[in-house]
Amino acid sequence: MMTTSMKRRDVLLKALGAGAGLAGLSGCVARVDRDSGAVSVVGAMNAIGKPDVARVLVVGGGYGGATAAKYVRLLSQYKIEVVLVEPDAAFVSCPMSNLVLGGGRTIADVTRPYATLEKQHGVRVVRDMISSVDATQRIAVLASGGEIRYDKLILSPGVEMMWTEITNLRAASQQGRVLQAWKAGPETTALRRQIETMPDGGVFAIAIPEAPYRCPPGPYERACIVANYFKAAKPRSKVLILDANEDVTSKGPLFKKVWSESYKGILEYRPQHKATGVDAATGTIKFEIQEDVRAAVLNVLPPMRAGAIAVQTGLANSNARWCNVNWLNFESTAARHIHVIGDSIQIAALMPKSGHMANSHAKVTAAAIVAELSGWDPDPAPMLTNTCYSFVDDKRTVHIASVHAYSEDEKTFKPVPGAGGLSPAPNEQEASYAWSWARSIWADALA
Ligand SMILES: Cc1cc2nc3c(=O)[nH]c(=O)nc-3n(C[C@H](O)[C@H](O)[C@H](O)COP(=O)(O)OP(=O)(O)OC[C@H]3O[C@@H](n4cnc5c(N)ncnc54)[C@H](O)[C@@H]3O)c2cc1C
Repeated sequence: MMTTSMKRRDVLLKALGAGAGLAGLSGCVARVDRDSGAVSVVGAMNAIGKPDVARVLVVGGGYGGATAAKYVRLLSQYKIEVVLVEPDAAFVSCPMSNLVLGGGRTIADVTRPYATLEKQHGVRVVRDMISSVDATQRIAVLASGGEIRYDKLILSPGVEMMWTEITNLRAASQQGRVLQAWKAGPETTALRRQIETMPDGGVFAIAIPEAPYRCPPGPYERACIVANYFKAAKPRSKVLILDANEDVTSKGPLFKKVWSESYKGILEYRPQHKATGVDAATGTIKFEIQEDVRAAVLNVLPPMRAGAIAVQTGLANSNARWCNVNWLNFESTAARHIHVIGDSIQIAALMPKSGHMANSHAKVTAAAIVAELSGWDPDPAPMLTNTCYSFVDDKRTVHIASVHAYSEDEKTFKPVPGAGGLSPAPNEQEASYAWSWARSIWADALA
Protein backbone atom coordinates (compact mmCIF):
# COMPACT_ATOMS: atom_id res chain seq x y z
CA MET A 1 0.00 0.00 0.00
CA MET A 2 1.26 3.48 -0.82
CA THR A 3 1.71 5.80 2.14
CA THR A 4 0.93 9.51 1.83
CA SER A 5 4.64 10.28 1.98
CA MET A 6 5.39 7.82 -0.78
CA LYS A 7 2.65 9.36 -2.94
CA ARG A 8 4.12 12.77 -2.24
CA ARG A 9 7.57 11.63 -3.27
CA ASP A 10 6.18 10.17 -6.48
CA VAL A 11 4.44 13.42 -7.33
CA LEU A 12 7.53 15.47 -6.60
CA LEU A 13 9.80 13.27 -8.65
CA LYS A 14 7.39 13.34 -11.57
CA ALA A 15 6.89 17.02 -11.19
CA LEU A 16 10.58 17.72 -11.26
CA GLY A 17 11.13 15.36 -14.17
CA ALA A 18 13.51 13.31 -12.06
CA GLY A 19 11.68 10.00 -12.27
CA ALA A 20 14.87 8.20 -13.32
CA GLY A 21 16.59 9.09 -10.06
CA LEU A 22 17.43 11.92 -7.73
CA ALA A 23 20.73 12.68 -9.39
CA GLY A 24 19.02 15.11 -11.74
CA LEU A 25 18.50 17.56 -8.90
CA SER A 26 21.69 19.49 -8.40
CA GLY A 27 22.53 20.36 -4.85
CA CYS A 28 19.91 18.02 -3.41
CA VAL A 29 20.14 14.97 -1.27
CA ALA A 30 17.45 12.36 -0.78
CA ARG A 31 16.54 11.62 2.82
CA VAL A 32 14.97 8.26 3.60
CA ASP A 33 13.01 7.85 6.77
CA ARG A 34 14.09 4.46 8.17
CA ASP A 35 10.75 3.69 9.81
CA SER A 36 8.32 4.67 7.10
CA GLY A 37 10.57 4.43 4.05
CA ALA A 38 9.37 7.90 3.05
CA VAL A 39 11.73 9.86 0.83
CA SER A 40 11.90 13.63 0.67
CA VAL A 41 14.04 15.67 -1.67
CA VAL A 42 16.07 18.20 0.20
CA GLY A 43 17.53 21.32 -1.34
CA ALA A 44 20.73 22.68 0.11
CA MET A 45 19.79 25.07 2.89
CA ASN A 46 21.98 27.97 3.89
CA ALA A 47 23.62 27.95 0.50
CA ILE A 48 24.98 31.47 0.91
CA GLY A 49 28.14 31.79 -1.16
CA LYS A 50 27.42 28.42 -2.81
CA PRO A 51 25.25 29.09 -5.87
CA ASP A 52 25.97 25.63 -7.31
CA VAL A 53 24.01 23.96 -4.53
CA ALA A 54 21.25 26.53 -4.09
CA ARG A 55 17.63 26.21 -5.11
CA VAL A 56 15.27 29.11 -5.80
CA LEU A 57 11.61 28.22 -5.90
CA VAL A 58 9.38 30.59 -7.85
CA VAL A 59 5.62 30.51 -7.27
CA GLY A 60 3.54 31.86 -10.15
CA GLY A 61 4.55 31.97 -13.81
CA GLY A 62 3.03 35.35 -14.67
CA TYR A 63 4.77 38.66 -15.37
CA GLY A 64 6.77 38.65 -12.14
CA GLY A 65 7.46 34.94 -11.64
CA ALA A 66 8.43 33.97 -15.19
CA THR A 67 10.86 36.90 -15.41
CA ALA A 68 12.36 36.13 -12.00
CA ALA A 69 12.85 32.44 -12.87
CA LYS A 70 14.67 33.26 -16.09
CA TYR A 71 16.83 36.02 -14.58
CA VAL A 72 17.98 33.94 -11.59
CA ARG A 73 19.19 31.36 -14.10
CA LEU A 74 20.82 33.94 -16.39
CA LEU A 75 22.47 36.06 -13.70
CA SER A 76 23.82 33.02 -11.84
CA GLN A 77 25.30 31.73 -15.12
CA TYR A 78 22.96 28.75 -14.84
CA LYS A 79 24.43 27.69 -11.48
CA ILE A 80 21.40 28.21 -9.24
CA GLU A 81 18.66 25.65 -9.65
CA VAL A 82 15.27 27.22 -10.32
CA VAL A 83 11.92 25.47 -9.92
CA LEU A 84 8.83 27.36 -11.15
CA VAL A 85 5.41 26.21 -9.95
CA GLU A 86 2.45 27.39 -12.03
CA PRO A 87 -0.94 25.72 -12.58
CA ASP A 88 -1.54 27.02 -16.11
CA ALA A 89 -0.14 25.25 -19.18
CA ALA A 90 0.90 28.52 -20.82
CA PHE A 91 1.50 32.18 -20.02
CA VAL A 92 -1.59 34.27 -20.92
CA SER A 93 -1.02 38.03 -20.87
CA CYS A 94 -3.54 40.37 -19.28
CA PRO A 95 -1.95 43.32 -21.14
CA MET A 96 -3.52 43.36 -24.65
CA SER A 97 -6.27 40.93 -23.50
CA ASN A 98 -8.92 43.69 -23.54
CA LEU A 99 -8.59 43.59 -27.34
CA VAL A 100 -10.07 40.08 -27.25
CA LEU A 101 -13.29 41.62 -25.88
CA GLY A 102 -13.55 43.85 -28.94
CA GLY A 103 -13.19 40.84 -31.24
CA GLY A 104 -10.02 42.15 -32.95
CA ARG A 105 -7.71 39.62 -31.28
CA THR A 106 -8.01 36.10 -29.90
CA ILE A 107 -6.68 34.69 -26.65
CA ALA A 108 -4.07 32.80 -28.74
CA ASP A 109 -2.59 36.18 -29.73
CA VAL A 110 -1.73 36.90 -26.08
CA THR A 111 -0.59 33.39 -25.11
CA ARG A 112 3.02 32.22 -24.98
CA PRO A 113 4.49 28.80 -23.99
CA TYR A 114 6.83 28.04 -21.09
CA ALA A 115 8.87 25.68 -23.29
CA THR A 116 11.87 27.99 -23.86
CA LEU A 117 12.14 28.73 -20.16
CA GLU A 118 12.51 24.98 -19.62
CA LYS A 119 14.58 23.95 -22.64
CA GLN A 120 16.79 26.99 -23.13
CA HIS A 121 17.17 28.19 -19.57
CA GLY A 122 16.86 24.98 -17.58
CA VAL A 123 14.01 26.20 -15.36
CA ARG A 124 12.11 23.22 -13.99
CA VAL A 125 8.47 24.08 -14.61
CA VAL A 126 6.07 22.19 -12.38
CA ARG A 127 2.41 22.40 -13.38
CA ASP A 128 0.79 22.56 -9.97
CA MET A 129 -0.21 24.98 -7.19
CA ILE A 130 1.64 25.65 -3.97
CA SER A 131 -0.92 24.99 -1.25
CA SER A 132 1.15 26.01 1.79
CA VAL A 133 4.58 27.25 2.81
CA ASP A 134 6.52 26.49 5.97
CA ALA A 135 8.68 29.60 6.15
CA THR A 136 10.74 28.29 9.07
CA GLN A 137 11.64 24.94 7.50
CA ARG A 138 11.74 26.49 4.01
CA ILE A 139 9.42 23.91 2.53
CA ALA A 140 6.59 24.54 0.08
CA VAL A 141 3.84 21.96 -0.33
CA LEU A 142 2.31 21.23 -3.73
CA ALA A 143 -1.47 20.92 -4.03
CA SER A 144 -0.89 17.45 -5.48
CA GLY A 145 1.01 16.49 -2.35
CA GLY A 146 4.76 16.80 -2.99
CA GLU A 147 7.13 19.03 -1.06
CA ILE A 148 9.82 21.30 -2.40
CA ARG A 149 12.59 22.70 -0.22
CA TYR A 150 14.10 26.01 -1.13
CA ASP A 151 16.93 28.31 -0.17
CA LYS A 152 15.01 31.32 -1.49
CA LEU A 153 11.34 31.55 -2.39
CA ILE A 154 10.02 34.13 -4.84
CA LEU A 155 6.25 34.58 -4.61
CA SER A 156 4.49 36.28 -7.51
CA PRO A 157 0.93 34.96 -7.19
CA GLY A 158 -0.84 38.06 -8.53
CA VAL A 159 -4.08 39.15 -6.88
CA GLU A 160 -6.98 37.44 -5.17
CA MET A 161 -10.52 38.79 -5.55
CA MET A 162 -12.12 39.77 -2.22
CA TRP A 163 -15.42 38.12 -3.06
CA THR A 164 -17.11 38.73 0.25
CA GLU A 165 -16.98 42.51 -0.31
CA ILE A 166 -19.76 42.22 -2.91
CA THR A 167 -22.80 40.16 -1.92
CA ASN A 168 -23.60 37.21 -4.23
CA LEU A 169 -20.64 37.96 -6.51
CA ARG A 170 -18.73 34.75 -5.92
CA ALA A 171 -21.71 32.52 -6.75
CA ALA A 172 -22.61 34.66 -9.79
CA SER A 173 -19.01 34.41 -10.99
CA GLN A 174 -18.82 30.66 -10.44
CA GLN A 175 -22.06 30.24 -12.42
CA GLY A 176 -20.46 32.26 -15.24
CA ARG A 177 -23.18 34.93 -15.03
CA VAL A 178 -21.17 37.89 -13.70
CA LEU A 179 -17.58 37.63 -14.90
CA GLN A 180 -14.42 39.52 -14.00
CA ALA A 181 -11.90 38.41 -16.68
CA TRP A 182 -9.21 40.10 -14.56
CA LYS A 183 -6.89 37.17 -15.14
CA ALA A 184 -6.72 36.63 -18.89
CA GLY A 185 -7.80 33.22 -20.16
CA PRO A 186 -11.07 31.33 -20.51
CA GLU A 187 -12.99 34.06 -18.67
CA THR A 188 -11.86 36.64 -21.22
CA THR A 189 -13.28 34.50 -24.02
CA ALA A 190 -16.49 33.89 -22.04
CA LEU A 191 -16.96 37.63 -21.45
CA ARG A 192 -16.40 38.26 -25.17
CA ARG A 193 -19.18 35.76 -25.90
CA GLN A 194 -21.55 37.60 -23.53
CA ILE A 195 -20.79 40.92 -25.23
CA GLU A 196 -21.19 39.39 -28.69
CA THR A 197 -24.51 37.69 -27.97
CA MET A 198 -25.96 40.65 -26.06
CA PRO A 199 -28.96 42.17 -27.90
CA ASP A 200 -28.42 45.53 -29.60
CA GLY A 201 -29.80 48.16 -27.24
CA GLY A 202 -28.41 46.44 -24.13
CA VAL A 203 -25.97 47.89 -21.58
CA PHE A 204 -22.48 46.61 -20.69
CA ALA A 205 -21.73 47.77 -17.13
CA ILE A 206 -18.24 47.61 -15.64
CA ALA A 207 -17.87 48.21 -11.88
CA ILE A 208 -14.43 49.33 -10.65
CA PRO A 209 -13.29 48.88 -7.03
CA GLU A 210 -11.51 51.48 -4.94
CA ALA A 211 -7.78 51.71 -5.72
CA PRO A 212 -5.36 50.01 -5.28
CA TYR A 213 -6.33 47.24 -7.69
CA ARG A 214 -4.56 45.38 -10.52
CA CYS A 215 -3.90 47.67 -13.52
CA PRO A 216 -5.40 51.10 -12.74
CA PRO A 217 -6.16 52.05 -16.40
CA GLY A 218 -7.34 48.53 -17.39
CA PRO A 219 -11.08 49.01 -16.72
CA TYR A 220 -11.21 52.32 -18.65
CA GLU A 221 -9.35 50.72 -21.57
CA ARG A 222 -11.88 47.86 -21.49
CA ALA A 223 -14.78 50.31 -21.55
CA CYS A 224 -13.29 52.02 -24.64
CA ILE A 225 -12.76 48.73 -26.49
CA VAL A 226 -16.32 47.57 -25.81
CA ALA A 227 -17.73 50.99 -26.80
CA ASN A 228 -15.72 50.85 -30.02
CA TYR A 229 -17.18 47.41 -30.77
CA PHE A 230 -20.73 48.66 -30.05
CA LYS A 231 -20.20 51.64 -32.37
CA ALA A 232 -19.64 49.26 -35.26
CA ALA A 233 -21.73 46.21 -34.34
CA LYS A 234 -24.49 47.26 -31.89
CA PRO A 235 -25.06 51.00 -32.34
CA ARG A 236 -28.00 51.17 -29.89
CA SER A 237 -25.98 49.62 -27.04
CA LYS A 238 -24.23 51.50 -24.24
CA VAL A 239 -21.25 51.17 -21.91
CA LEU A 240 -21.63 52.26 -18.30
CA ILE A 241 -18.56 52.74 -16.07
CA LEU A 242 -19.46 52.55 -12.38
CA ASP A 243 -16.37 53.64 -10.50
CA ALA A 244 -15.98 53.39 -6.71
CA ASN A 245 -13.25 56.04 -6.95
CA GLU A 246 -13.80 59.79 -6.96
CA ASP A 247 -12.36 60.15 -10.43
CA VAL A 248 -10.61 58.18 -13.17
CA THR A 249 -7.58 56.63 -11.47
CA SER A 250 -5.13 56.66 -14.42
CA LYS A 251 -4.69 58.59 -17.70
CA GLY A 252 -7.82 60.57 -16.73
CA PRO A 253 -7.53 63.52 -19.15
CA LEU A 254 -6.78 61.21 -22.07
CA PHE A 255 -9.66 58.82 -21.41
CA LYS A 256 -12.10 61.68 -20.83
CA LYS A 257 -11.10 63.33 -24.10
CA VAL A 258 -11.71 60.07 -25.99
CA TRP A 259 -15.07 59.53 -24.27
CA SER A 260 -16.33 62.98 -25.22
CA GLU A 261 -14.92 62.94 -28.76
CA SER A 262 -15.41 59.32 -29.84
CA TYR A 263 -18.01 57.76 -27.56
CA LYS A 264 -20.52 60.53 -26.82
CA GLY A 265 -23.94 58.97 -26.21
CA ILE A 266 -22.37 55.49 -26.13
CA LEU A 267 -20.24 55.57 -22.98
CA GLU A 268 -21.20 57.08 -19.63
CA TYR A 269 -18.86 57.53 -16.67
CA ARG A 270 -20.28 57.59 -13.11
CA PRO A 271 -17.75 58.17 -10.29
CA GLN A 272 -18.32 57.37 -6.60
CA HIS A 273 -20.32 54.23 -7.32
CA LYS A 274 -19.15 51.60 -4.87
CA ALA A 275 -20.71 48.24 -5.70
CA THR A 276 -21.91 46.22 -2.70
CA GLY A 277 -23.97 43.44 -4.28
CA VAL A 278 -25.19 41.81 -7.46
CA ASP A 279 -28.33 39.97 -8.47
CA ALA A 280 -27.44 37.77 -11.42
CA ALA A 281 -31.05 36.74 -12.10
CA THR A 282 -32.16 40.32 -12.78
CA GLY A 283 -28.77 41.63 -14.00
CA THR A 284 -28.60 44.17 -11.19
CA ILE A 285 -25.66 45.85 -9.42
CA LYS A 286 -26.34 47.35 -5.99
CA PHE A 287 -24.34 50.27 -4.55
CA GLU A 288 -23.46 51.68 -1.16
CA ILE A 289 -25.47 54.89 -1.81
CA GLN A 290 -26.74 55.20 -5.38
CA GLU A 291 -29.70 53.58 -7.11
CA ASP A 292 -29.41 50.03 -8.45
CA VAL A 293 -28.25 49.65 -12.03
CA ARG A 294 -29.51 46.97 -14.42
CA ALA A 295 -27.51 45.86 -17.44
CA ALA A 296 -27.40 43.07 -20.03
CA VAL A 297 -23.75 42.24 -19.28
CA LEU A 298 -22.25 42.85 -15.83
CA ASN A 299 -18.48 42.98 -15.42
CA VAL A 300 -18.05 43.53 -11.70
CA LEU A 301 -14.55 43.79 -10.25
CA PRO A 302 -14.42 43.41 -6.46
CA PRO A 303 -11.65 44.88 -4.28
CA MET A 304 -8.43 42.90 -4.55
CA ARG A 305 -5.61 41.78 -2.29
CA ALA A 306 -2.37 39.82 -2.51
CA GLY A 307 -2.58 36.33 -4.04
CA ALA A 308 -4.11 33.77 -1.66
CA ILE A 309 -0.86 31.90 -0.97
CA ALA A 310 0.80 35.14 0.20
CA VAL A 311 -2.12 35.97 2.52
CA GLN A 312 -2.27 32.43 3.85
CA THR A 313 1.49 32.40 4.55
CA GLY A 314 1.05 35.47 6.76
CA LEU A 315 2.87 37.86 4.44
CA ALA A 316 -0.01 40.33 3.87
CA ASN A 317 1.06 42.60 6.71
CA SER A 318 -0.27 45.83 5.20
CA ASN A 319 -3.95 46.12 6.18
CA ALA A 320 -4.19 42.33 5.84
CA ARG A 321 -4.26 42.97 2.07
CA TRP A 322 -0.81 43.58 0.63
CA CYS A 323 2.74 42.42 1.47
CA ASN A 324 5.36 44.82 2.77
CA VAL A 325 8.83 44.18 1.39
CA ASN A 326 12.37 45.41 1.85
CA TRP A 327 12.83 47.44 -1.34
CA LEU A 328 16.46 46.49 -1.90
CA ASN A 329 15.68 42.81 -2.49
CA PHE A 330 11.86 42.48 -2.17
CA GLU A 331 12.25 40.19 0.82
CA SER A 332 9.05 40.05 2.85
CA THR A 333 9.19 42.03 6.09
CA ALA A 334 7.23 39.15 7.65
CA ALA A 335 9.41 36.16 6.71
CA ARG A 336 13.08 35.66 5.90
CA HIS A 337 14.05 34.08 2.56
CA ILE A 338 10.63 34.79 1.00
CA HIS A 339 10.63 37.51 -1.66
CA VAL A 340 7.27 38.90 -2.82
CA ILE A 341 6.99 40.66 -6.17
CA GLY A 342 4.34 41.90 -8.60
CA ASP A 343 0.77 42.81 -7.77
CA SER A 344 0.89 41.22 -4.30
CA ILE A 345 3.08 43.89 -2.71
CA GLN A 346 2.18 47.07 -0.85
CA ILE A 347 3.23 49.61 -3.44
CA ALA A 348 5.60 52.55 -2.98
CA ALA A 349 4.49 56.04 -4.05
CA LEU A 350 2.94 56.14 -7.54
CA MET A 351 3.99 52.57 -8.28
CA PRO A 352 1.27 50.89 -10.36
CA LYS A 353 0.23 47.27 -10.09
CA SER A 354 1.27 46.44 -13.64
CA GLY A 355 2.93 43.72 -15.66
CA HIS A 356 5.85 45.98 -16.53
CA MET A 357 6.36 46.82 -12.85
CA ALA A 358 6.21 43.11 -11.91
CA ASN A 359 8.88 42.48 -14.56
CA SER A 360 11.02 45.26 -13.03
CA HIS A 361 10.53 43.91 -9.48
CA ALA A 362 11.58 40.48 -10.76
CA LYS A 363 14.90 41.68 -12.13
CA VAL A 364 15.86 43.60 -8.97
CA THR A 365 14.91 40.55 -6.90
CA ALA A 366 16.75 38.06 -9.12
CA ALA A 367 19.90 40.20 -9.01
CA ALA A 368 19.71 40.57 -5.22
CA ILE A 369 19.16 36.84 -4.66
CA VAL A 370 21.95 35.84 -7.04
CA ALA A 371 24.23 38.33 -5.28
CA GLU A 372 23.38 36.95 -1.84
CA LEU A 373 23.70 33.31 -2.86
CA SER A 374 27.01 34.09 -4.58
CA GLY A 375 28.38 35.97 -1.58
CA TRP A 376 28.42 39.34 -3.36
CA ASP A 377 27.08 42.70 -2.18
CA PRO A 378 23.63 43.54 -3.57
CA ASP A 379 23.03 46.60 -5.76
CA PRO A 380 22.58 49.48 -3.26
CA ALA A 381 20.64 51.69 -5.70
CA PRO A 382 18.20 49.73 -7.88
CA MET A 383 15.86 51.41 -10.38
CA LEU A 384 12.45 50.37 -11.70
CA THR A 385 10.70 51.41 -14.90
CA ASN A 386 7.12 51.18 -16.09
CA THR A 387 5.24 51.86 -19.31
CA CYS A 388 1.59 51.09 -19.63
CA TYR A 389 -0.28 51.33 -22.94
CA SER A 390 -4.07 51.49 -23.24
CA PHE A 391 -5.96 51.06 -26.49
CA VAL A 392 -8.83 53.52 -26.84
CA ASP A 393 -10.15 51.80 -29.99
CA ASP A 394 -8.70 49.14 -32.28
CA LYS A 395 -6.15 51.55 -33.79
CA ARG A 396 -5.18 54.25 -31.28
CA THR A 397 -3.29 53.97 -28.02
CA VAL A 398 -2.18 56.16 -25.09
CA HIS A 399 0.58 55.50 -22.59
CA ILE A 400 1.77 56.45 -19.12
CA ALA A 401 5.41 55.90 -18.12
CA SER A 402 7.47 56.32 -14.95
CA VAL A 403 10.91 55.69 -13.49
CA HIS A 404 11.40 54.85 -9.80
CA ALA A 405 14.73 55.18 -7.97
CA TYR A 406 15.63 53.71 -4.59
CA SER A 407 16.15 56.37 -1.96
CA GLU A 408 18.79 55.36 0.59
CA ASP A 409 17.52 58.05 2.99
CA GLU A 410 13.88 57.03 2.89
CA LYS A 411 14.41 53.30 2.23
CA THR A 412 11.78 53.24 -0.48
CA PHE A 413 11.36 53.78 -4.22
CA LYS A 414 10.49 57.30 -5.32
CA PRO A 415 9.33 58.44 -8.75
CA VAL A 416 12.07 60.30 -10.62
CA PRO A 417 10.76 63.84 -11.28
CA GLY A 418 10.36 64.63 -14.98
CA ALA A 419 10.95 61.05 -16.12
CA GLY A 420 8.05 59.47 -17.97
CA GLY A 421 4.59 61.07 -18.24
CA LEU A 422 1.53 60.78 -20.45
CA SER A 423 0.98 60.64 -24.22
CA PRO A 424 0.00 64.04 -25.61
CA ALA A 425 -3.06 62.48 -27.32
CA PRO A 426 -4.35 59.12 -28.55
CA ASN A 427 -2.52 58.14 -31.72
CA GLU A 428 -1.98 55.26 -34.11
CA GLN A 429 1.81 55.16 -33.94
CA GLU A 430 1.66 54.21 -30.26
CA ALA A 431 -0.47 51.18 -31.10
CA SER A 432 2.50 49.69 -32.94
CA TYR A 433 4.74 50.64 -30.00
CA ALA A 434 2.28 48.88 -27.68
CA TRP A 435 2.63 45.63 -29.62
CA SER A 436 6.43 46.01 -29.69
CA TRP A 437 6.33 46.54 -25.94
CA ALA A 438 4.24 43.40 -25.47
CA ARG A 439 6.38 41.21 -27.71
CA SER A 440 9.60 42.38 -26.08
CA ILE A 441 8.38 41.97 -22.48
CA TRP A 442 7.00 38.49 -23.26
CA ALA A 443 10.39 37.59 -24.76
CA ASP A 444 12.16 39.12 -21.75
CA ALA A 445 10.23 36.79 -19.45
CA LEU A 446 9.89 33.67 -21.54
CA ALA A 447 12.25 33.48 -24.54
C1 LIG B 1 -7.35 43.65 -18.48
C2 LIG B 1 -5.97 43.93 -17.97
C3 LIG B 1 -5.11 44.71 -18.72
C4 LIG B 1 -3.82 44.96 -18.26
N1 LIG B 1 -3.00 45.74 -19.02
C5 LIG B 1 -1.74 45.98 -18.61
C6 LIG B 1 -0.84 46.72 -19.43
O1 LIG B 1 -1.19 47.20 -20.51
N2 LIG B 1 0.43 46.89 -18.99
C7 LIG B 1 0.86 46.36 -17.81
O2 LIG B 1 2.04 46.53 -17.49
N3 LIG B 1 0.03 45.68 -17.00
C8 LIG B 1 -1.25 45.46 -17.38
N4 LIG B 1 -2.10 44.71 -16.59
C9 LIG B 1 -1.66 44.30 -15.24
C10 LIG B 1 -0.82 43.01 -15.25
O3 LIG B 1 -1.49 41.96 -15.89
C11 LIG B 1 -0.48 42.60 -13.83
O4 LIG B 1 -0.04 43.70 -13.10
C12 LIG B 1 0.60 41.51 -13.84
O5 LIG B 1 0.08 40.36 -14.45
C13 LIG B 1 1.11 41.23 -12.44
O6 LIG B 1 2.07 40.22 -12.48
P1 LIG B 1 2.14 39.14 -11.29
O7 LIG B 1 3.30 38.27 -11.59
O8 LIG B 1 2.03 39.83 -10.00
O9 LIG B 1 0.78 38.33 -11.46
P2 LIG B 1 0.28 37.39 -12.69
O10 LIG B 1 0.89 37.84 -13.97
O11 LIG B 1 -1.18 37.33 -12.57
O12 LIG B 1 0.88 36.00 -12.32
C14 LIG B 1 0.47 35.29 -11.18
C15 LIG B 1 0.58 33.82 -11.47
O13 LIG B 1 0.64 33.10 -10.24
C16 LIG B 1 -0.05 31.89 -10.39
N5 LIG B 1 -0.41 31.46 -9.03
C17 LIG B 1 -1.23 32.06 -8.15
N6 LIG B 1 -1.26 31.38 -6.99
C18 LIG B 1 -0.41 30.33 -7.14
C19 LIG B 1 -0.03 29.25 -6.28
N7 LIG B 1 -0.51 29.13 -5.04
N8 LIG B 1 0.85 28.33 -6.76
C20 LIG B 1 1.35 28.44 -8.03
N9 LIG B 1 1.01 29.45 -8.88
C21 LIG B 1 0.13 30.38 -8.43
C22 LIG B 1 -1.22 32.24 -11.30
O14 LIG B 1 -1.74 31.10 -11.97
C23 LIG B 1 -0.60 33.27 -12.25
O15 LIG B 1 -0.16 32.68 -13.46
C24 LIG B 1 -3.38 44.43 -17.02
C25 LIG B 1 -4.26 43.64 -16.28
C26 LIG B 1 -5.53 43.38 -16.74
C27 LIG B 1 -6.45 42.50 -15.94
